[in-house]
Amino acid sequence: MTNNELLKLVKDKSVIIRGFGIIGEYLTRLLCENQFCREVLVCDRNSRKSNEQGSIPLITYDEALGSKSSYVYLIASFYSRSIMTDELIESGVDPNSIIYGVTEEAWQYYLEAQSKKKSTPLKRLQFEIDISMHCNLDCNCCSQFGAISKPEFVDIDSMERNFKRLGELFGGMAERIYLIGGEPLLNIDIIRCMEIARTSFPSGKIDIFTNGILLFSMSNKFWDTCRKYGIGLIVTKYPTKIDYDSMKALAMDHDVKFEFFGSSEDFKYMTPLGLDVEGKQDVNESFALCPEANNCIKLRDGKLFTCTRPAAIYKFNNFFEKDLSVSDEDSIDIYKAKDGQEILEFLSHPIPFCRYCDNKSHREAREWGHSKKVIEEWT
Ligand code: SF4
Ligand code: SF4
Repeated sequence: MTNNELLKLVKDKSVIIRGFGIIGEYLTRLLCENQFCREVLVCDRNSRKSNEQGSIPLITYDEALGSKSSYVYLIASFYSRSIMTDELIESGVDPNSIIYGVTEEAWQYYLEAQSKKKSTPLKRLQFEIDISMHCNLDCNCCSQFGAISKPEFVDIDSMERNFKRLGELFGGMAERIYLIGGEPLLNIDIIRCMEIARTSFPSGKIDIFTNGILLFSMSNKFWDTCRKYGIGLIVTKYPTKIDYDSMKALAMDHDVKFEFFGSSEDFKYMTPLGLDVEGKQDVNESFALCPEANNCIKLRDGKLFTCTRPAAIYKFNNFFEKDLSVSDEDSIDIYKAKDGQEILEFLSHPIPFCRYCDNKSHREAREWGHSKKVIEEWT
């Protein structure tokens, strides 16, 4: 649908724009500037956004649902289209009042905005390292391929060398470092990993990114080390029987920084990665639309990757007997880079491996569950 077609559909109607991301803002401007509608309201689940946008009439999700039967709902998200639509219908909204609002022009605008953002080098390094490649949970669609990984841990000597090198290149400063996996708490050398990270990066936020299952059995020395080095815990919630309140209380008792990942009450949805095993995607578009690009930067074997995928794809290849190939151009060798800026520049560009990532096709999010270890969870 084009902008003009959308404007004809909503002419003289009262509209609630559902979602206030880049596309939601674009549609708000489009509708307000043209004054085609009787009224335009915007609703986002994230109430923090509502408070920050003084000039635009933002309402809460509950307000959007209450006595608004005369309104048209405009879905302003490409990726959450199904979830948002289902939510509205389940809440009693007439399906005929719901319009998918991502017009061709809105999509183009989103693509350009994302491309600019992704291709801007970071000001400070942020990166993560898998200290355990496997996991003690087996979530469907795991982006780290934890459920299909053989038991494997980081090589501690190599980790120490690589952290030392990066610490020298970046003056011991990083925006953030995650000790992650798989499940990092499975690594019995985790205390040593923490020492290495903090010694090389005296300045910067360091966290262990975990599902938290093993936190109840960690030693006092582990907790003492977290506290001593100012290393925090970020826990992703899953719909399992884990007592998350007790987990948080335990960390508080040990005076260790603790937070839950994301804003969702529970992590209920998992989305297939959209791997294109044929490798036929446009690398620039894949990169621009990728939430991991220039964000979830991964350190592995003395190289930095702009994302997890090429660093971890060997697990997928091994399990499903595929050959998604990784070349030298997919990463930067931290020993060959002349300085930190060269690394940050490299990380802000598409890599050949992006051809394997279909970030444009719509993929249905699915309920969290145990992996069936079938390729469809990742394609
Ligand atoms: S807990 Fe995280 S790393 Fe482990 S299987 Fe689930 S998504 Fe993957
Ligand atoms: S390889 Fe895939 S996951 Fe990595 S930056 Fe490119 S599109 Fe994103």
